[in-house]
Amino acid sequence: MSFSLAERNDTIIALATPQGVGAIAVIRLSGQDAIKLTNEVFFGKNLEKQDSHTIHFGTIRDGEKVIDEVLVSLFIAPKSFTKENVVEISTHGSSYIINQVIKLFLKKGVRPAKAGEFTQRAFLNGQFDLAQAEAVADLIHADSEASHSAALSQMRGGFSGEIQVLREKLIHFASMIELELDFGEEDVEFASRTELQELVERLLRVVEELILSFDLGNVIKNGVPTVIAGKPNAGKSTLLNALLNEEKAIVSDIAGTTRDLIEDEINIGGVIFRFIDTAGLRETTDTIEAIGVSRTQEKMKTASLILYLFDLGDTDLVEINRDVNKLENLGVPFLKIANKLDKANPELVSELKSKYPDTIFISAGNKENLEGLKVKILELVNLDKFKTGNTIVTNVRHYDSLIKTRDSLLDILRGIDDQITNDFVAMDIRRSLHYLGEITGEITTDDLLANIFSKFCIGK
Ligand code: GDP
Repeated sequence: MSFSLAERNDTIIALATPQGVGAIAVIRLSGQDAIKLTNEVFFGKNLEKQDSHTIHFGTIRDGEKVIDEVLVSLFIAPKSFTKENVVEISTHGSSYIINQVIKLFLKKGVRPAKAGEFTQRAFLNGQFDLAQAEAVADLIHADSEASHSAALSQMRGGFSGEIQVLREKLIHFASMIELELDFGEEDVEFASRTELQELVERLLRVVEELILSFDLGNVIKNGVPTVIAGKPNAGKSTLLNALLNEEKAIVSDIAGTTRDLIEDEINIGGVIFRFIDTAGLRETTDTIEAIGVSRTQEKMKTASLILYLFDLGDTDLVEINRDVNKLENLGVPFLKIANKLDKANPELVSELKSKYPDTIFISAGNKENLEGLKVKILELVNLDKFKTGNTIVTNVRHYDSLIKTRDSLLDILRGIDDQITNDFVAMDIRRSLHYLGEITGEITTDDLLANIFSKFCIGK
């Protein structure tokens, strides 16, 4: 999907609210003729004589036939999302009305918007850069507090600003070195190699940090991969069901929510935890077997969090010690959860309290201390990192460009070390600039744009 210049001059239309019956629906138009054409079918007042950011009551008519009573909001270019003339028509939410209104505009030569076309116009008209446009898509799809805040901060300029500043500094160096090249033989030095080295090292630190944040970003977007491990009958599926049922109860308590629960995901404190291999866990009791089985170990390595569960009535300290050692070697953060507190051997409980004071005692069967468990889970994954507004990369495309940027920055440093000639240093700098520019969209190709905007849905 790429747009010709002529297509960019079209006035486009789409339903901006979700498909299906709601109390009201919002139909959005964008383009030079949006207000003029709306005025031709709107009865109430002359829309072409109204100010930007005003709302008007009237009827939409097809000839003599009244289609609906509506509210029309006007946004006059460039003070709109797309920086074009934008009209938002709020109609009653019947699909019949929506279809009639849209058809009426199609008859007048308005074109149905393609997926992401509103956002693409906003980008092409300089409303925001590419990273921010992608954040709009992430925001639309965000279904947890953490992913929402990551997307929101990126949309507001997030790391684009950071990249921008560094890129400008590097451009300055590039131009100094090019200047030296112009002077050729004369052996002048406008750009100090030491300063360049310092700048590149600083850039590298930022880029490395952003690269590292990708793991974190991924977690926010897709959930913290979590494994419940323990012997058969420890109570793993009971615990999982207890957590999931609680989540279901919470969700259905919120009046009017129709959100489908994603099986095997729970939201704790605004963060999604995704349980790995839970289908198996629920069907058979021993999919995730005793720790030490190699298949289980492989699975546990892919997790960011392990809930190690044991039965207080059926385990001794020797066994727990052995499991804890194995888990420590694995290097994945884990919680020691003592289950079946209701039928615990008191001796083991006190032994555990002195040897492992951080053990969490629960009774999954009776839903006892699940809240305490959730608090510990959140502590362990240290989600404050997400919430302090730190820059987090959540996008594979950005990650890719960051990796390439890092490699080309390392090339600059190697070049300086090896005292290679200016023209080669300049080339490495230009390459770094290119990849940095790819992130914010200063450097784009049609393919890249098409790829990004096709991920939007129609009406965005
Ligand atoms: P899994 O094999 O680890 O998935 O274990 P299950 O969840 O199937 O539980 C094994 C048995 O322990 C079942 O009969 C559960 O009802 C029981 N169970 C689970 N949690 C508790 C608990 O907190 N207290 C008691 N008394 N029984 C429990």
